[in-house]
Amino acid sequence: MKFVCGTCRQFQRDKENDKAICSAWGNPTSMKRDGCQFWIPKSEGLYPTEEPNLPK
Ligand code: SF4
Repeated sequence: MKFVCGTCRQFQRDKENDKAICSAWGNPTSMKRDGCQFWIPKSEGLYPTEEPNLPK
């Protein structure tokens, strides 16, 4: 996963004006901007918290 704002959990797109916002700072940002020290991955799939539901 690339260390950029677009892959950060705090990255949000404001639907009303189509601006990218960092919800941690409330500041405009962009998908490709380098991640800051508060970057948190969006996907939780890398660290599953539950056992997979396997067929028996
Ligand atoms: S916390 Fe940092 S890396 Fe994440 S969206 Fe905001 S500025 Fe980008």
